[in-house]
Amino acid sequence: MPGWRVAADDELVRLGVTLLALARTSARTATYKPATLLALVDVLAARVDPRGSAPDVVPLVDLAERVIALYWPQVREYDGLDRRDQVLRQISDRNKVSVIVRSVREYYVEAVRQGARSPGRAAVVLPGLHASTVDAVARNLRRYPLERLQRPGGWRQGQDYERPLYDDRHFGAGSREVELRLHPGAGERLVALSGLLVPVLQAEWTQQVASLNELPSEDLRRHLFGEQRADLGPVRDVLRQLQDGRCLYCGRTLSSGGQVDHVVPWSLHPQDAIENLALAHDACNGAKGAHLLDLAPLRAWASRDLDELALAAGAVPWRSDPTTVFGLARSAYAHSGAAQLWRPGRTRPMQPDDQRSALELLSRA
Ligand SMILES: [Zn+2]
Repeated sequence: MPGWRVAADDELVRLGVTLLALARTSARTATYKPATLLALVDVLAARVDPRGSAPDVVPLVDLAERVIALYWPQVREYDGLDRRDQVLRQISDRNKVSVIVRSVREYYVEAVRQGARSPGRAAVVLPGLHASTVDAVARNLRRYPLERLQRPGGWRQGQDYERPLYDDRHFGAGSREVELRLHPGAGERLVALSGLLVPVLQAEWTQQVASLNELPSEDLRRHLFGEQRADLGPVRDVLRQLQDGRCLYCGRTLSSGGQVDHVVPWSLHPQDAIENLALAHDACNGAKGAHLLDLAPLRAWASRDLDELALAAGAVPWRSDPTTVFGLARSAYAHSGAAQLWRPGRTRPMQPDDQRSALELLSRA
């Protein structure tokens, strides 16, 4: 399609085929491969720049933070598990414990004890434990998963293999890397492929957990990937004040309570930071569903006062992260060529010009 800023190229197709083969053929001994790859796609999407491009360098702490969020719902107790701790096994060797899973589980247990049920809330309520968990997970990522991610199933010491994403020889025991440097253009291609990769990686992960725990995979998927939505009640009043009692989408007065909506759809990127939230009529929220905003409501949303939002978030307290939210929004517009744009009363297909205008409106954070 001419005009779109992302077009298929041979490299893109080649990377897609290689990664899908890797996902399917890797040894099902531990779930860190799909976890790390999913986290990488998410972090890249959140860092899409004002021109719509994804970066080629990712700080390991950012990757760790996303890995924690992915394992978060998975370390909850799973009913009916024939094990004392009721937590799903993520590694085949019964004598080993996954350091990542253990760290996230300990963090989760403490967070729930303090009333924080989502990773976003936990980071606000327990900043110290959050930081030390991120640190532990980042160290582990550097040591194992990043070194082994691109090795095909059945790999033997000394065998060479293709490294489609990055040079993994920087990682392993003794590595001191603090960032992941992808091959030029690999970040962009990963994000462009996310619509294909994410469901495949989730299915692969689900099958791994099913086989490690001898459970049927159908029941598991919801438990593993139905990320917990935080109770949005605490931010409702703040948003009402910031929006002068009006619906962000149609601009008319909110007579009743209204609903707190995730502007970048939850189904696309589960993101609870205040910048991604808006108060809207029940009907407006319902009609928008999982669509992207058309330019007029997008302008209203993107031009909100970010300092005011961050201040208001601090008073609740609630998570504020304009960089991630605007990055995810840019990714959504830059990589969803066939998206429908919604405004009150009308839905229409996005055009290349809309894509450019949306990226311009979203270039401020
Ligand atoms: Zn409305």
